[in-house]
Formats: sequence, C-alpha cells, structure tokens
Amino acid sequence: MTTCDVTILGAGPYGLAAGNHLKQIKGLEVCVFGDPMSFWEHNMPAGMYLRSNWTATQIADPNHSLTLEAYQVESGSHLFQPVPLDRFVQYGKWYQRKALPDLDRRQVIRIASDPKGFRVALSDGEVMTSKRVVVAAGIGRFAWCPPDFAGFPSCLVSHSSEHSNLAKFAGKQTLVIGGGQSALESAALLHEGGATTEVFARSRRIHWLQGWASKSLHHRLGRLTNRLLYAPTDVGPAGISQLMARPNLLRRLPRSLQDRLRKRSVRPAGARWLVDRLREVPIHLGRSAVSVAAVGERMKVRFDDGTERTVDHVLLGTGYRIDVSKYDFLAPELVRSLGTFNGYPILREGLETSIPGLHILGAPAAWSFGPLMQFVSGTHYASQALTRHIARNGLSARRVRDSVGAWYPQEVSVPRNN
Ligand SMILES: Cc1cc2nc3c(=O)[nH]c(=O)nc-3n(C[C@H](O)[C@H](O)[C@H](O)COP(=O)(O)OP(=O)(O)OC[C@H]3O[C@@H](n4cnc5c(N)ncnc54)[C@H](O)[C@@H]3O)c2cc1C
Repeated sequence: MTTCDVTILGAGPYGLAAGNHLKQIKGLEVCVFGDPMSFWEHNMPAGMYLRSNWTATQIADPNHSLTLEAYQVESGSHLFQPVPLDRFVQYGKWYQRKALPDLDRRQVIRIASDPKGFRVALSDGEVMTSKRVVVAAGIGRFAWCPPDFAGFPSCLVSHSSEHSNLAKFAGKQTLVIGGGQSALESAALLHEGGATTEVFARSRRIHWLQGWASKSLHHRLGRLTNRLLYAPTDVGPAGISQLMARPNLLRRLPRSLQDRLRKRSVRPAGARWLVDRLREVPIHLGRSAVSVAAVGERMKVRFDDGTERTVDHVLLGTGYRIDVSKYDFLAPELVRSLGTFNGYPILREGLETSIPGLHILGAPAAWSFGPLMQFVSGTHYASQALTRHIARNGLSARRVRDSVGAWYPQEVSVPRNN
C-alpha cells in the first residue's frame, strides 16, 4: 500500500499554498489531491470579479515568486483591479503548475483512521496510508438553502454556487434572494445577460464597500495612516483589519468579543463597483419570503409585506453555513470524534483538529482563527502555521501516542532531514 507523510485534500488556494509550503520541509513526502481551482471555475459565474483587493488576491508562496505580478509577466497578460474571475482561475492553475507539477487530480472519497495514521481511499479504488491529513476542501458542500426554498427542482430554484454561467437565463424572469456580494453580483450578471431580475433581501440596507465616507477617509489619512489602519489582507474595517490579520492575537480575546469582531468584519456587503451596474435592477429590502410554491413550470413567492412574484427561476444568493459533518469523505467515526462548535471544527495550533494529525484549512477554520480564513489572503497565515507546526512536531510517535492513547502504534517516524 502506498504511504505518504502528509496528504492534502483540495487544490484551491489553501491546498495549493499548503502543499507549496510543506515542500520546504526536506524529506517530507507530501501528496496533494484535487482538481486545481475547480470551485472557482465551476461554481462561480462567468463575468464575476474578485471583491478582494490586489494584495489580498495573492496565493501565499514561501519564495514570494508566484505572485500576480509574476503571472502577468509570464503570461503576457495585463491584469487590473478588480481581478476578473477567469484570470484568477488561470493564475491559480499557473501557480499549481509551477509549485506542484505532480499534483494528483484524483478525488479523495474516504479518510478513516488507521494504525499508521489515516487510510485514504481514492476515486479509482486505490487506498493509501498517510501520517497526517490536511483537509482544504472549501465551502462547496456548505451552500445554504433557506428551508422555505428547499425541495424544489433545480430548474426552478438553485443556489448561486450551482452556476458557472448565468447567461442561460437570458429572456427569463428571475428573482434573486440575498443582500451580499454573491446575490448582488448575480443580479447584475443576470440583468446584463438579458434576464429580467429583482433582488429581495431580509436586511434593511445594503452595505456598500468603499463608499464615499471610506474613500475620503482613505484620502485624508494619507498612505502611512492607511497602512496602520488597514492590513494588506483586506478583511475587516479600519483598525479591526489589523487584528483580523493576526489570528494568534485574535484567538486570545474573549470569545464574545471575537464573535462580535468577526460579525462586523464579514457582514454581507456589496462592492461599490456594482452600484452602477444595478441601477436598473429593483432591490427590495427588509422582505422575507412567507410562502414559496411551484405553479406549473414557474415559482410563486410571497413576501411578508404582501408583495408577490411569479417567476421562471429563483436564484439563492444566501451564502454558506459551515458544517464539517457534510464533508462526506470523512469516515463517520472521525466525524463523531471531531470536536466542533456550531458545525465548525475546534482547531488548535497548526490548524489541527481534536483528532491528532488531522488538520482543516480554509473557511471551516474561521471559528478558531477568525474570518481571515474565509479568504485567499488567509493562505499566508494558514500555510505558515501548518508548516511550522509539522516542522516542529514532525510525525513524532511519542507526541501522537501521548495525545490519542493506545491505538496508535509506535512505528511513526519523524520527517527525514528535518
Ligand atoms: C461567489 C464567491 C466569491 C468569492 N470571492 C472572493 C474574493 O474575491 N476574494 C477572496 O479572497 N475570497 C473569495 N471567496 C471565498 C473563496 O471561496 C475562498 O477564498 C477560497 O476559495 C478558499 O479556498 P479553499 O482552497 O479553501 O477552497 P476552494 O477554492 O473551494 O478549493 C477546494 C478544493 O478542494 C477540492 N476538493 C473538494 N473535495 C475534494 C475531494 N473529496 N477530493 C479531492 N479534492 C477535493 C476541490 O476540487 C478544490 O480544488 C469567494 C467565494 C464565493 C462563493
């Protein structure tokens, strides 16, 4: 049976950055599995722009060479801000070819515990063992569908993550539910693609990012003060941004304060550049759906103010709710012994779960390490923390035996030349 020191499941920004960093530990065998940038390519709409700024859109690279600037030079293409989705996908694939040319595109279908660490089953039937496993599987499985809209065929109701091209709705009447970036940008794309659309959101106002007040504040403060107030990671408002960029510090604050700061940093908001594009799209705020029904081949939705719409399609821009038990590749016994809070894994140093040797990166790490983990800019912290942890603790038998008790045999070795 093939063995590997560290298996990484996932080839999005987090899996790629983690693989690239772990390669720096000499002698450590790292196997990375997944379809590079697949979530961005297949589950986000063509024509979308990234909301994060230029510096926050760089996938972490320990050698600082796989930057957006380097990609521009090598590919001969000129990028601008906001970065278009298709260019970011190309950048991610370029990063993968450079950093992890031997990445394995097979899917991981099962991770279970094994006397040697973990047993990893692949989509073609091969089974291997791995001393550590890093899950970087993203948020695709956590798409949130409000109960009222559940159970309808996907031709009538769908989540925004089900689409890579909204142009197929040209000529149709659509309704978008939600008041965040995903809902608003989907509405803009539907409108520009020739569909009729309206947005209905529960919130009473839309928070537009980089508004007039924020722009003039930036202008008046000057470069230095701006740098002091806003971290390059681009998560959170003035001041709080610096704290969000430092998960080790954030973790030391009382839980209630962490939760408040987190909520403030990632509240639903739309990028300012959407305002003009949505001028002709009606946006109804403070409305909740009270009745949802299929009427023939259309959907009838009634809202709490009595407004009623019958449309060809309802698009849910209702976001994601983390629930690691939905990672169907985790064996039930692993899910059962995983320490969680509200669906989030409780992680310790090195983004390690309560199961020694099992790490989880990306958005599920946000409860333990803050909202930075929900964004590409979090790849810097996550991959460095993971690498430091493995370099320091290795795959040491003693440590693993100490923490999990008798079931773990003694033959685990420390990474070679480390
Ligand atoms: C509409 C939208 C817009 C966004 N815009 C931004 C933005 O502008 N800036 C920003 O920083 N963030 C943005 N985000 C957040 C973004 O999703 C995350 O920053 C980023 O994708 C996290 O990377 P990841 O590697 O954790 O997950 P993903 O990019 O989702 O990668 C997951 C990887 O895991 C693989 N995988 C899953 N299951 C398996 C399996 N069983 N076996 C093998 N491989 C598997 C997938 O193929 C994929 O390669 C946006 C999200 C959405 C939904």
